[in-house]
Amino acid sequence: MKKELTITDVVLISLIAIIAISGEPFLALIVGILSLILITLITEDEKVDIPLNDNHKYSLFMKNKAEYLKSRQWSNKRQEVLNRDKYRCRSCGAYANLQIHHLSHYACIPNEPTSALVALCGTCHTKFHEKYGYPKTYNDYMKWDFSIDTVKNLK
Ligand SMILES: [Zn+2]
Ligand SMILES: [Zn+2]
Repeated sequence: MKKELTITDVVLISLIAIIAISGEPFLALIVGILSLILITLITEDEKVDIPLNDNHKYSLFMKNKAEYLKSRQWSNKRQEVLNRDKYRCRSCGAYANLQIHHLSHYACIPNEPTSALVALCGTCHTKFHEKYGYPKTYNDYMKWDFSIDTVKNLK
């Protein structure tokens, strides 16, 4: 990122130059190092204000999602959904190979409500995504919104 020269930078550079010319190279070095630290800190602050483009948002979202799916919070929520769905696939009623599927609320993770989640067996889960597709972009994830009816008739 390109940083524009500010008044502070100009003052500091002038100060370093004056000290260096006046025959205090050690002092100039110290002021120089302090200035670099200060400029780095200011640059870090500026980074926060840069609006994220969709690619940045997507990679940040995917990173958070991956971490969330490894968290205790997710494993507790997963357990809650399995209990609510009585350890059966909400589509075909199978007991084996249960997976938790997001119907909606990706934008809210890790605080999505359990009403946004359903237990599906591996076969029905695959069928769902073959029929309705996969979220592929940041916008797809943010707009991902299906009703419970969509898992009921997966043929
Ligand atoms: Zn099923
Ligand atoms: Zn799914």
